Amino acid sequence: MHGFAVEDRRTLAAVADWIADRLAHPERLTAPYDAPARLPEVGGAGIGLEATWAALRDQVLPTAFPTDHPRYLAFVGGAPTPAAVLADAALSAASVYGGSELEAGAAVAAERAALRWLCDLAGYPDQAHGAFVSGGSIANLSALVAARHARSAHGTLPRTILAGAGVHASVDAAAAIMGCVVERAGAPDEPLRAADLKPVLDALDPRDVVAVVASAGATNTGAVDALAEIADLCAGYGLWLHVDAAYGGAALLVPAERAAFDGIERADSLTIDPHKWLFTPFDCAAVLYREPELARAAHRQRAPYLESAYDDGMDNPADYAVHLTRRARGLPLWASLVAHGADAYRRAVESCLATARYAAGRVAASAALELAAEPGLSVVLLRRRGWTRERYDAWSRAARADGFALVTPTTVDGAVALRLCFVNPHTTRADVDRVLAALEETG
Ligand SMILES: *Cc1c(COP(=O)(O)O)cnc(C)c1O
Repeated sequence: MHGFAVEDRRTLAAVADWIADRLAHPERLTAPYDAPARLPEVGGAGIGLEATWAALRDQVLPTAFPTDHPRYLAFVGGAPTPAAVLADAALSAASVYGGSELEAGAAVAAERAALRWLCDLAGYPDQAHGAFVSGGSIANLSALVAARHARSAHGTLPRTILAGAGVHASVDAAAAIMGCVVERAGAPDEPLRAADLKPVLDALDPRDVVAVVASAGATNTGAVDALAEIADLCAGYGLWLHVDAAYGGAALLVPAERAAFDGIERADSLTIDPHKWLFTPFDCAAVLYREPELARAAHRQRAPYLESAYDDGMDNPADYAVHLTRRARGLPLWASLVAHGADAYRRAVESCLATARYAAGRVAASAALELAAEPGLSVVLLRRRGWTRERYDAWSRAARADGFALVTPTTVDGAVALRLCFVNPHTTRADVDRVLAALEETG
């Protein structure tokens, strides 16, 4: 079962060719997904590698709506670079255990370089560090667990997480896991201000606050909270500030957007997901700490059989989050940065922002469409005049079913709207025109 036969090498070469074609043509959906395919059975005797690859290629993979399709504009997509995909594939083959330097070797140094690049983007000091985890959800959980550990020096565990009303749902999930409650301040679709937090904070015992969570790029609207004044407030009360930049952090690359993020460098912890807008395959999210020792104290697992791998002189990614065994999932980001250079990253993020601005202008000029809010980062919210929730849902489902586009509705200011999120530099103005024309033409 573990041998690699001559025929298997041919299949491997076919997979490599398929990967090259696939990356060149993400829009080629060959199997619209309406009913679940009849997949090969899991049986006592296997069907072999070649037939299994054929099933994967023809029955499974083409039915996904790929996040790098140029008209995947729902949620937050992701368009990995070929260099990142190649590194990701090789990483699987190399069986790298990414938890400790003893096992992972230079993979740790490569991940550290990618973490450093993210820290530099945020303006974090030299000692800042962190780890790559599976997603923004685990990054937020890990940061909040570290915050609580750092703040429970006096023996009592704080229980309240204070967040903006537009904070991501993963913060509620983290609170539920931790046995904490989330207190919200401000309005869901507006950037959070210090003045929104102050009255909520004054009604609490600051010793009971785990952390204040601000968003740098709210998922629904792209709004960036007023980070500098929130950082001032947290400093005044001696509170841990966590900034969730899972989606928006990529915009730190763009000089014209940078001022909106001022204050991010003062966060105690920070989440940035390279698998969203930094062109890395799923899954890859970074949790970064201004004082990594505080995170290590909270997260390091101890056991007799771990002692030699986890001595204090080593940089062990397992120490900084809710995990032990882990994929060295920062390696694809590192490989892609090394291959393409940071300037190409900046240009790619700028092009997504430019496409979002084009879409907003096109909506504003349309008789049938209207903007539901001012665009935030690369999120454009719009409405089709006269449509009910059912019309949006039906249009969205039909567009997905025939492989045309993935665009889904949301709620803004209490009313339904369509949300377009641009994180793929291959999305063209022509793609925008096609999606908006389809909306205008549907009666
Ligand atoms: C996507 C997102 C998350 C969750 O990240 P996952 O990788 O899906 O777990 C958290 N916060 C924000 C702001 C996000 O956009």
